[in-house]
Amino acid sequence: MTDPWYDETLYPDVAQRFRMGRVLYRDKTALQDLVIFENPVLGRVMALDGVVQTTEGDEFVYHEMLTHVPILAHGRVRRVLIVGGGDGGMLRRCLEHRDVERVTMVEIDRSVVDLSIQHLPSISAGAFDDPRADLVIADGCAFVKDADQRFDVIIVDSTDPHGPGAVLFTEAFYADCRARLTPGGVLVTQNGVPFLQPDELKTSHRRLGRLFADASFFVAPVPSYYGGFMAFGWATDDPALRRQTADAIRPRFAAAGLKTRYYTPDIHAASFALPAFMQDALR
Ligand code: SAM
Repeated sequence: MTDPWYDETLYPDVAQRFRMGRVLYRDKTALQDLVIFENPVLGRVMALDGVVQTTEGDEFVYHEMLTHVPILAHGRVRRVLIVGGGDGGMLRRCLEHRDVERVTMVEIDRSVVDLSIQHLPSISAGAFDDPRADLVIADGCAFVKDADQRFDVIIVDSTDPHGPGAVLFTEAFYADCRARLTPGGVLVTQNGVPFLQPDELKTSHRRLGRLFADASFFVAPVPSYYGGFMAFGWATDDPALRRQTADAIRPRFAAAGLKTRYYTPDIHAASFALPAFMQDALR
């Protein structure tokens, strides 16, 4: 009888566990341990190297915030780069913006894409078949170093800073991302749970702050990411983009015709308000 629980191994002293119903896939890919299983509360769950990456139940929070916030703040996005994002949820949300002409997604592990399409179809919901989607299987770090394309928004939808994801938290990578942005472009990143990963927050802030005129964070609570709300890195050379009011965003949200379950223009504006412990950590 296999253990009916999946125990996360991200932290040494605290952990969360998920009851495993049907296990749809459990094996090593060429790069990572990958498991996809069913849970009574969260639906289908995917984990990589002992860390839950996405669940059918709460993926909407993370994917809506990491796409709609930069795209609606910028206001004139035509080309997006996603680094990582193997499950396709980020790609799907970017493509919901009808004015977006092209989304390039650079994912290092083909198996994550294939198995997500097979076992988590509701998350990508056909996004990989969209003619505006351009899937590149490569290391995102090498891609931004060598590419000559420019993007209005770059979304780093990576694993945590270990294994293949570690390079996506380096200053060299952030510098190459900056070189790939159009003037006024925005870089946003998956930047961990600040209550449990304060060093990741401080390090990213320091590195991004050395490269961009405005480096900060916005936050949202993702239930399956243990430890409180999640921080998303924000970096741009246009400080005004982060300070737009909900009323300024509202007409863009309405014009985009988006159906959302977490994101609203008021949530957008409020998500940049950081609690005192985060402000202290960033001084
Ligand atoms: N929502 C998740 C989170 O917040 O941790 C991230 C989801 S997504 C599954 C993370 C993806 O990053 C994985 O598919 C992984 O293969 C990919 N990845 C890790 N390192 C990468 C790299 N250097 N270049 C491109 N993709 C990478």
